[in-house]
Amino acid sequence: MAKKSLAERDQALIWHPYTQMQNAPAPIPIIRGEGVFLIAEDGKKYIDAVSSWWVNLHGHSHPYIAKKVSEQLNKLEHVIFAGFTHPGAIELAERLISILPDGQKKVFYSDNGSTAVEVALKMCFQYWSNQGKGKTKVLAFNNSYHGDTFGAMAVSARNAFTKPFEKLLFEVEFIDLPDQNNIEQLKLQISARVSDLSAFIFEPLVQGAGGMQMYEAAYLDELIKHCRENGILTIADEVMTGFGRTGKLFASDHLSEKADLMCFSKGLTGGTMALGITTCTIAIYEAFLSDNKLKTLFHGHSFTANPIACAAALASMDILLESETLGNIQRISESHQAFCGRVSQHPKVKCIRQTGTILALEWETLGETSYFNNLRDNLYNFFLEQGIILRPLGNIIYIMPPYCITNEQLDYIYKKIEEALERF
Ligand SMILES: *Cc1c(COP(=O)(O)O)cnc(C)c1O
Repeated sequence: MAKKSLAERDQALIWHPYTQMQNAPAPIPIIRGEGVFLIAEDGKKYIDAVSSWWVNLHGHSHPYIAKKVSEQLNKLEHVIFAGFTHPGAIELAERLISILPDGQKKVFYSDNGSTAVEVALKMCFQYWSNQGKGKTKVLAFNNSYHGDTFGAMAVSARNAFTKPFEKLLFEVEFIDLPDQNNIEQLKLQISARVSDLSAFIFEPLVQGAGGMQMYEAAYLDELIKHCRENGILTIADEVMTGFGRTGKLFASDHLSEKADLMCFSKGLTGGTMALGITTCTIAIYEAFLSDNKLKTLFHGHSFTANPIACAAALASMDILLESETLGNIQRISESHQAFCGRVSQHPKVKCIRQTGTILALEWETLGETSYFNNLRDNLYNFFLEQGIILRPLGNIIYIMPPYCITNEQLDYIYKKIEEALERF
């Protein structure tokens, strides 16, 4: 009998994320990663223009991260994090706090972005309940995405993905993204609900899964300030925007107001290991200090603060803070800007926007649904054929590359997008 291919063995057993398995094309087996490239079993090289679901910062199989992770593997692979600690978790907490906006004082570890959000929400709800206040409602943006576990899903926009679970999701007050025209009305909307709103969660500056929607720091500042003045805690979900994506280390660095809690994952380890972090102010932390054991934050995961993941995060942070990397972030931002200028007038371009290293282009679909339905797959397949991984969100394609991408590689992607604009 002929030996089964990797794709066949995969299809025999594996259920993939966000994939309708009935008609899913065979998955592409990747056997190696090298810098900006993913290398398939058949030898084909792909530019990873989406940083493998937004996690990779410095390229694949980075030798420095590999070295640090490997050294850690020979020292300590894991230890229970209740009652025990380890040097990597301590150093990572110290170094992260030193680069975060002022006010973030305590670090809580978990496994991924969704759990980082769950922890932030539980901190907020219990912050109030520990003080005998039953504020349990959350304020969030329309079109938001905060993860796939139940709490994170509840504070995300309701859509086709959340539909089967609708009745099980807790109640959330959704508001539009703020702009010059609606900001005063949004504040009134918030003021009307102040008594039961416990927290406001937002993706600062860029809504990722919602189609890379971008909005201005000045109006978010106004909302954060309004929440603070009305006793509503604020959570900056930087799971996607953290670690340089928006041109500064954190999207919150574009703001003058500071959130009470922040969530991190994705780029935290440079895309090497699963790790989540929730940080908070001293006021939140202190609301859990008590002789009463019931005021404890009863939350933890088996792999909380895994030492290998912490080693990867420390190594990634070393590279991120090098002047060469910060220069690359600047270079990519400028390159994106120039491309925006070049194609913004194209009749197929409904909208093109950019924040730091993130570029998003919305295709004009002329309201034809059949065209629209095929467009996403046609674009995805076209770019794959050209050796580029670009995963459109509906009619929106975006580039969110690892920072090591060269100008030549960026120009190749831009050129292929321009070709696609003529073809589709
Ligand atoms: C991806 C994402 C999450 C969820 O992170 P996972 O690690 O996939 O659970 C949460 N918030 C934002 C803003 C994200 O982009």
